[in-house]
This record gives sequence, structure tokens and C-alpha cells, in this order.
Amino acid sequence: MPASSDSSSNFDTPLASREPVAVVGGSAAGFFTAYLLARGGVSVRVFEQSEQLDAAERTLIVTRRMNDLLGSAGKDSIVNEVRRFELFTDGRAASIDLAQPDLIIERARLIRSLAKHAQGAGVQVHLGCSFRKLIPRKQKIALELQHTGGDTSEEFITDTVVASDGASSAVAHAAGWPKPPTVPLVQAIVPLPKDMSADTVRVWFVPDDTPYFYWLIPESPERGALGIIGESGSESRKVLDAFLVKRKLEALGYQAARIPVYKRWVPVEKKIGNGRVFVVGDAGSQVKVSTVGGIVTGLRGAAGVAEAILNRGSSRELRRLRREMYIHLLIRRALHDFQQEDYSRLVDSLNLPAKRSLSEFSRDEALKLLWRVCVRQPRLILMGLRGLLTSRGFARSKN
Ligand SMILES: Cc1cc2nc3c(=O)[nH]c(=O)nc-3n(C[C@H](O)[C@H](O)[C@H](O)COP(=O)(O)OP(=O)(O)OC[C@H]3O[C@@H](n4cnc5c(N)ncnc54)[C@H](O)[C@@H]3O)c2cc1C
Repeated sequence: MPASSDSSSNFDTPLASREPVAVVGGSAAGFFTAYLLARGGVSVRVFEQSEQLDAAERTLIVTRRMNDLLGSAGKDSIVNEVRRFELFTDGRAASIDLAQPDLIIERARLIRSLAKHAQGAGVQVHLGCSFRKLIPRKQKIALELQHTGGDTSEEFITDTVVASDGASSAVAHAAGWPKPPTVPLVQAIVPLPKDMSADTVRVWFVPDDTPYFYWLIPESPERGALGIIGESGSESRKVLDAFLVKRKLEALGYQAARIPVYKRWVPVEKKIGNGRVFVVGDAGSQVKVSTVGGIVTGLRGAAGVAEAILNRGSSRELRRLRREMYIHLLIRRALHDFQQEDYSRLVDSLNLPAKRSLSEFSRDEALKLLWRVCVRQPRLILMGLRGLLTSRGFARSKN
């Protein structure tokens, strides 16, 4: 645990002579923020509650945007690449070939790699330090940190805190952000079905089971992760298990957590006395609500927050991210109350030009994707509008 400092500073102080920035949560978003700040000349400490860098394993799918953001730091986490999506609903099927492959990554490897890069840039990482309290003090912020597994605690004084402690962020809550709604994501690791290629992702729309979808992403030619986004934790596991039985697949293990549901833009900064607290990743609900994918958007949130800290206020990346998140919200609202016949019509409407757009643009270019798909298949505009107008379950928001 680092010694605390109590000398006064303000935001006109040169970056290098400021108090170290405290990043709470040794997560993907946290380490990426820390790395960018350190590279920008800021002293940074990361406080992580786990005593080892041994994040739970999670097989994830991301677009190539992750590589654009992370460069070589993301490479070690890639376990597979996929070039095709197969969509199924009610006996119908459609397939989409991707112009640029998506990446299958392993979360624990990503976190370890980002931690290594952050440390290489000069970030000090403190494991076994759990955030307890945030106390405004002499124009600064005191963080009370408890040693994991013991009752000793210490204070760390700073003027800038970054909360990257996940969906149920204690830091964000202590700083006054309301707790976000969350949904359970549960996936089973399964042997890859014999009729499935390791470069293909399968997605099933079964609105009786979930307003979202099931996915099966291959992590190797032998294994994949079959998951569901549910609405209640215990129910989702039961529904997933029933789906596994239907598909004659046996779970080799499970991965699960609650992930925030994006309902409106969450301002990334709050002032506490003269200090500032920022949120990144799941802690700031930076999750695409269309697919509940939070890696790329969390990394973009991290880049935006680092930019805001380094530039003292403005961030183009955050403005772009906010626009992108709004498009995903519109898509979710349009789809959320779709019934079986709507999904059947949706899959039937995917003509060749619409599929080409889905192949050319990724989920992380939502505005371009939506625009091109609608231009190439105008029936989808009507279906989307109908979905938006009849949407009951998904809160409307002003953005
Ligand atoms: C089953 C499943 C499948 C998913 N699939 C995908 C996918 O395919 N694609 C995708 O993009 N996203 C996916 N997601 C979502 C994605 O995993 C998350 O959005 C992302 O990992 C969140 O990262 P983060 O960096 O914000 O925080 P987290 O990974 O949640 O990390 C938070 C960190 O903070 C630490 N911490 C918590 N409290 C404290 C404290 N008090 N003091 C100190 N440290 C603390 C934790 O130990 C942890 O290390 C999936 C999620 C699940 C559960």
C-alpha cells in the first residue's frame, strides 16, 4: 500500500507534479485508463481487491476495434477469429460472412496483458486492496482501502479517482452515481457441435426465453461458449440448461456475472470537493445495450476518460461514444418486444444487400451499420419503427 500524501494541488498544477491518480479496480477498463494516463506523464496507482491478477476466465467476442484501441496489448488475449455469423429463429436461418473477422478473446488473459503494459508504462499496481470509503478531505479525496483478508486499512490521498470496479461499483455509488440496473449473462462452456465450424458464431432468437438472444462462440475447434442474456439470474441458468438439453450439449463449466443495462448516458465525472471522480467500463454502464457487450465500449470509455483527465475536461472520444451508445439503445428498444413472428420476418428480410452491410460494418460502427442496412432493406425501417412505437419493456430515455 502506498504512503499517502497531503500536499495541496489544483488542476492548474502541471500533470507530472499532481497527486497520483487512483484507479480502483484492476479490470480491462481500469488498466487501460491507467496505461494511457501513465503514458501521458501522470503518476498512477491501481488498487485491486484480488490478491492475485487472476480474474475469472470469460470467453468473449469483440470486433477488431479492440485491436485498433489496444494495438499489441490485446494480441495475447486472442484465442480464435470468426468470419461468419449464422442466425436462427423458428426453423429459419440466415448467414452473414464478415468482411473483417471478429475476435474471440479470453478476459483473464486480456487483463493480465493490460496490467503488464500499464506496469511497463510506470503504473504501480497494489493487489489485495479493497475500496471501502471515499472521504472529501482538505480539497482532496481520501480513499479508505482495506487489505483483503485482514482488518487493516489505510488512506490514500488524491485529487483524481477513476472507478473501474465493475457493474456494482462501490466507488461510483460512494461518489453519488445511482446504481445501474443490471442483467445476468450466463454462458456454459460446451464441446463444439460436430456440424459447426470453428470460424462461425451461432445466434438464436427465442423471444419466449429471452428478449435478447442465445449465442455460441467457438474458442477453439473443440470448445465454445453458449450463453444467454436473461432478466433474472436463477431463471436464466434454468432456461440455458433447458436449451443445452435441446441442443444435446453438455456444460463443461459455467461463466456468469451481472452486467449493467445502458438506459441513458451516464456522465463520467463528478466533483467531490476540489477533487474529481470518473467512471469507466461497467462502472459507468459503458456497455452496448443491443448485445450487452462491454469490452470495446469500456475501453473507449477508458480512452475518453484518460483524454478528459489529460486535457482537463474535453474528450472527443467520449462524445463519439455517447452517440454510439444512443444508437445501440435505439436498436435495443426496437427489438426488445419483438415476438416470434417479428424475428421470423426480420430473418426473412435479410436480403443480399442488407447482409452485405452487416458484413462490411461492425457492431462498433452502429450508426453506419444501421444506416446502410436500412437503405439496402427499407422493410427493416418499418419493422424498427413498429418495434420502437410498441416497445413496453425497455425504458425510454432522453439522450
Ligand atoms: C458471461 C458473460 C459473457 C460476456 N460476453 C461478452 C462479449 O462477448 N463481449 C463483450 O464485449 N462483453 C461481454 N461481456 C461483458 C464484459 O465481460 C464486461 O462488460 C467487461 O468485462 C467489464 O469490464 P470492466 O473492465 O468494466 O470491469 P470488470 O471486469 O467487472 O472488473 C472490475 C474489477 O474491479 C475489482 N473490484 C471490484 N470491487 C472492488 C473494490 N471495492 N476495490 C478494489 N477492486 C474492486 C474487481 O475485482 C475486478 O477486477 C460478458 C459478460 C459475461 C458475464
